[in-house]
Order: sequence, then C-alpha cells, then structure tokens
Amino acid sequence: MAEKNHLSDISKRRTFAIISHPDAGKTTITEKVLLFGRALQKAGTVKGKKSGQHAKSDWMEMEKERGISVTTSVMQFPYADHLVNLLDTPGHEDFSEDTYRTLTAVDSCLMVIDAAKGVEARTRKLMEVTRLRDTPIITFMNKLDRDIRDPMELLDEVETELNIACAPITWPIGSGKSFKGVYHLHRDETILYQSGQGHTIQPVRIIKGLDNPELDGAVGSDLAQTLRDELELVVGASNEFDQELFMAGEITPVFFGTALGNFGVDHMLDGLVEWAPAPLGRETEDGRIEADAAAFSGFVFKIQANMDPKHRDRIAFCRIVSGKYEKGMKMKHTRIGKDVRIADALTFLAGDRALLEEAYAGDIIGLHNHGTIRIGDTFTAGENFRFTGIPNFAPELFKRIRLRDPLKQKQLLKGLIQLSEEGAVQVFRPLVNNDLIVGAVGVLQFDVVVARLKSEYNVEAIYEHISVNTARWVYSEDPRKLDEFRRKAEHNLALDGGDNLTYIAPTMVNLQLARERYPDIQFTHTREH
Ligand code: GDP
Repeated sequence: MAEKNHLSDISKRRTFAIISHPDAGKTTITEKVLLFGRALQKAGTVKGKKSGQHAKSDWMEMEKERGISVTTSVMQFPYADHLVNLLDTPGHEDFSEDTYRTLTAVDSCLMVIDAAKGVEARTRKLMEVTRLRDTPIITFMNKLDRDIRDPMELLDEVETELNIACAPITWPIGSGKSFKGVYHLHRDETILYQSGQGHTIQPVRIIKGLDNPELDGAVGSDLAQTLRDELELVVGASNEFDQELFMAGEITPVFFGTALGNFGVDHMLDGLVEWAPAPLGRETEDGRIEADAAAFSGFVFKIQANMDPKHRDRIAFCRIVSGKYEKGMKMKHTRIGKDVRIADALTFLAGDRALLEEAYAGDIIGLHNHGTIRIGDTFTAGENFRFTGIPNFAPELFKRIRLRDPLKQKQLLKGLIQLSEEGAVQVFRPLVNNDLIVGAVGVLQFDVVVARLKSEYNVEAIYEHISVNTARWVYSEDPRKLDEFRRKAEHNLALDGGDNLTYIAPTMVNLQLARERYPDIQFTHTREH
C-alpha cells in the first residue's frame, strides 16, 4: 500500500461491509470506493463477473463457470486521511452464512438500495442480522441515472419496512435522463452531475446556497423550484442526523447517487469517515475487550478453503479486536489452549494477497489453517478468554445427502462435521432415523460441499429432496420440560454438527404451532459457538 500513514492510529480506521439485494449495485459501488481509495487505477476490475475476468482468489472451476466468487475478500484502502477496511459480503448464488457472519466482524454497514425498486428481500434479511449488534447503517440510494421512485416514498419505505429512521444528507435533483445532481443539506451546496464520467474521479461543479440564481441556470428553473419545494417538505417531515441515534442503529444518513456514474459515492464515503465508528470493542465470556486495549486479541468469523489452488490451504479470517499483530508473534488459540507462532498472516488487497508485517484493531488478517481453527475461535496474546457474538444462523435451505458408496458413511459424516465447523454448511442428524441433512443459507454451498467431499474426503455424495423448511435450536431453563419435549417432538428433532438439539420444521406453520404448544421451550434462530 502506497500510503502507510496512520497505520497504527485506530481512531482513523473504519471497518464496514455492504448490505444489499443482488443487482442493487454492490459490486459497482465497491469498484468506485476502491477508485477513490486509489486502490484501483481504473474502476471495473474488482470481480469482472460480467467481463469474463476473474479475481485471483477464485479457486474452483465451478466458480469460473458461473462467473462468481466464493471468496469473501477484504479490501483495505486509504481515504481522506483514514484507513478503510471493506469486507465483501457474498451476495448472488454465493450468498451464504459467511455473508451473515461477516456482518459480525464490521463496525458499520453501507446499505445500497436500487432507487427504482426500493427495499428488497435480501436487504431486509441482512438488516435483521445487523440488528443483533445494532450496527450503524449508512444508506446509499443508487441508480439515480435511471427513473427512480419518489424519493420521499423511498425514505418512508425504509422507515416502515426496516424500522430505522432516515436522515437525508443529500437530496436528488431529477432522475433518469434529467438527473442533475444532488443538494447536500449539511454543506448547503448543490453538486452537479455529469454523465459519462463513471470510470474516473470526476471534476464537479458546486453551487453554494439553495437560493443562488446560478442554480436555476445550471439545472433549469423548474427543477430548481421543485428542489426548493421538496426540501422545505423534507426538512419539515424527515429527521435530522443524530450521531447517538446513528451509533445505536436507530437512524441512517441517506445519500443519493449513481454508482455506475460514480456520483455521490464520495459523499457517502465522507459520511463514513466522519460518522461511522472507529473499531469497536467486543464482548467476551468475561466482559468486554475495548479496541484500545494494549494486548492483541481477535476472533475468527470465516474460514475459506483452498482460495488459491497453488497453495491448497485454508485461510481463517480473523478480525483484530485489540492490540497489534506483528509478524512472527506468538498467539494463544484459546479453545485448544495452545500457543502458535504466526509468521505468515495475510492481508487482502483488492483480491491480491500479500504478506503482512503488522495490523491493528479493526483490521482483518488471514491465518493459515491446517484444520485446527474453527469459526468463532479466539486468539489472544496469552490470556484465556473467548469472544461471543459470532453465531451460527439457522439455515434456510435443506437437502438430504446420500452416498453413492454406502460403505463410506463414516467418512461422509466426518467430512460433513468438519465442513460444518468451518462454517461452510450445517449438518443435522434426525433423532429417529439415519438421514443426514445438509442445511445452508445459500444454494451454492450445496455444490461446494459435494465438490469438497470429493476432493478432500474422497466420497461421492448426492442430494435428495427433503421436506424441511426451517430449523431452530431449542433450549429450556427446565431440564424436565426439555426431556418431555424431546420425547414428544422426537420426529422433528435432530442433532447438529456440535450435537446441539435442533427442531427441524417442514413448514413455518408447523414451527409456529410447536412454539405455541411448548411455551417453555426457546426456539432460537442463531446459536453461539
Ligand atoms: P450487485 O449484484 O449488487 O453487485 O450489483 P452490480 O454492481 O453488479 O450491478 C448490477 C447491475 O446494475 C449492473 O449491470 C450494473 O452495471 C448496474 N448498475 C449499478 N449501479 C448502477 C447505476 O448507478 N446506474 C445504472 N443505470 N446501473 C447501475
């Protein structure tokens, strides 16, 4: 990285991820963000999923065929005197539990919404996950170069559907062919848009003041008047930005623009460095570790297998919570109580990987994993504690898995349990039969599992349909009630890869009925490691 300034200043770090529905513009905005971060000379080279280029980290032929990346990569770049970490969240077919868990490793999220469409299903789900930690959310209304829905209506929809107040920071002037730019409410200036400049950082014309007659000349007096009228309404009807409410995840600053036209992305980034939190501490079983604590600590939120076919290794992604990683340092892997010396942690620069000398709170490092690291593991400078809040999420898709060669049942189970410890999928074994059920959050995981079972465990497995719609982990304060439940609901119960009791429901209605029938049983959507 050219600019190594503030490398150790954690108050100048921002670690965030993008949440959005497929096709809302996450990839495009990532490219523009990197362009501003000077991490890319020219935007358009992040994934190239449409251009036939592939990120270097793609490892399976399967990915190449489909033009998607299984990798959740981490991008680090400087912006406005800050150091920004952007964690990629797999979103298309590669959507998976990793997408959810990545959201536990960031301190804020950028929500990208297609302004022609509004709030979509995937965004709703991801917002739910951010609510587990009340993560601060910044909103970008994208595709203003197309005809969009009424901006006021969009804000209403976000407020009612996602239950978060909106504070517009910029306001659009026209949209589609007549998109002229945005008015920045905090700066009291109009920033004019020029089309056809999407691949560069464009020079912009700025007009100070809303009543400036120059504005009428620049956007036409009709649009200028509409803007003034709308703003009067907006200022009256919407919320003002409030730092505290933002930090509590209760209000989101909203920006308008076009990622493709690279317009408005910098306003959003300015908001990010100004308002989004510097690296935050995390809870452990014995209290909170703050980001400015001196001793090194971190947790693993994702394990990536065989990213690079030349290396054939697994990489554990570790979010540093406190202290400093230094090349060659000794760390304690607290779950297994072992000290390990780490000389070769990786950092990920726009798909490339490079050896890393040092890293600080808020940064992500990649640790080589030879099968001992699991999702949720904690690394410390020697102390014995474990971070909490890195859960498993209830799968949303289920298939029965079966062997072509029934003699390899043991290997199959071993493989599935290891893959579930890695967080690739979850495996469930019903109490009443010998089925093996694979559960995942995204469809691609099923193919990944079969491919990896074959290459790493030498077993050939196939899937069959099974009528399971959802799963919940079950608990009860009262062991007798749990026993009774276990007997009565046996046909719907299974053990997951870690032997935790799980209710598997053929339909949502069935789950609802079970909840009503067994009020002393808790059915949970997430499970801590
Ligand atoms: P992702 O699935 O969220 O990563 O979305 P992409 O960034 O791949 O964008 C999906 C499609 O929308 C692509 O064809 C983009 O070129 C297009 N797109 C993204 N941003 C804009 C925008 O601001 N305006 C227009 N017109 N198209 C956009």
